[in-house]
Amino acid sequence: MSNHINYPILPNDVNTIGILGGGQLGKLIALSANKMGYKTHLYCPKGDNPAETVVDEITHGEWNDFDKLFHFSNKVVCATSEFENIPSKTLELLSKNIKITPSNIVFRCAQIRSKEKEMALKSDFLTPKWFLIKNTYDLIKASKALNNSGILKTNSLGYDGKGQVKIKNETNLLQAWEDLGSVECVLEELIQFKREVSIMFFKSHDESYGFFPLSENYHENGILKKSIAPVVLHENIEQELKLKTKKLAENLNFYGILAIELFELTDGSLIFNEIAPRPHNSFHWTIDACNNSQFDILIRAICGLPVENINCKGKWEMTNLIGEDIKHLDKIYNDQNYLLNIYGKKSIKSGRKMGHYTKQII
Ligand code: ADP
Ligand code: MG
Repeated sequence: MSNHINYPILPNDVNTIGILGGGQLGKLIALSANKMGYKTHLYCPKGDNPAETVVDEITHGEWNDFDKLFHFSNKVVCATSEFENIPSKTLELLSKNIKITPSNIVFRCAQIRSKEKEMALKSDFLTPKWFLIKNTYDLIKASKALNNSGILKTNSLGYDGKGQVKIKNETNLLQAWEDLGSVECVLEELIQFKREVSIMFFKSHDESYGFFPLSENYHENGILKKSIAPVVLHENIEQELKLKTKKLAENLNFYGILAIELFELTDGSLIFNEIAPRPHNSFHWTIDACNNSQFDILIRAICGLPVENINCKGKWEMTNLIGEDIKHLDKIYNDQNYLLNIYGKKSIKSGRKMGHYTKQII
């Protein structure tokens, strides 16, 4: 295969789509591709990978197994990643042979909190006050500047609230730094938000683009528990948010689907939290509510098909099934108004996303 692609990519015997990462997002991407007639080839390390049951081919390999990655890249026409922390070297190698959407540059930005905040500021977003922490001296200084009230986050590799610790007056800063592994961090101001919201932008290789309506999000212990969508913001605020989001996407030369998590303050203003250049848990409701789900749109975007005509019906609530939640579903199974999506993970672990359900509320 070569890196040059004639868009659109339509399903045929050779146009297999590569999916990097075997979790629930990989599974749902593969199901959308399959529905549209594309073959899929999954690359992921061995493990409890729900995507394995729905793809056409699987290559098991570590992210640094360059021989296996090269072999995989010869068997697909393009690829996308469900896994945000995919190493840069992996994407670099694959990009030599195939088109990866979103690009390596985008993943680099999303993986490093300080970089994504700089990009947000460059795109006119407000961010919480934040400081780059390279050592305990930096931490002591920054904590003082925030009146000892903040969140210390590892600068990379955090997800679902992992790699974070709250900083309060009584916190032992040296201990907090050590608990996070004594690695580069950011210390952020603790935002007193009214609620959290997220927006999703998408752009196809045919240059068409659009947005999903916003979601309102509720977290427990740093993990998304519930989303309600669509939510409507004040017209001016929503317009401004879309302009900034588009600017950020342009700054990254973005193709694919891009979620942005935000804090909404009581006065309605929005503060940037982070980006995710992949399907986002707070947009799972689009599977049931929209003519094209976020997964359908990702497939369309990476294949260069038009994406601008999104319409969604009704108002929805999506609830995540986390850990043991999956053992208590009698009520949900007994009510046809709940639409279940069980990921099929073999083992239950505390904090692990096992599935979700949606319900139309209006
Ligand atoms: P992750 O990469 O784990 O999703 P986030 O930065 O999104 O990390 O943090 C997870 C959750 O923790 C957020 O959705 C929010 O509820 C809370 N949180 C994170 N940063 C802040 C902050 N600066 N102020 C208040 N709450 C925060
Ligand atoms: Mg987050």
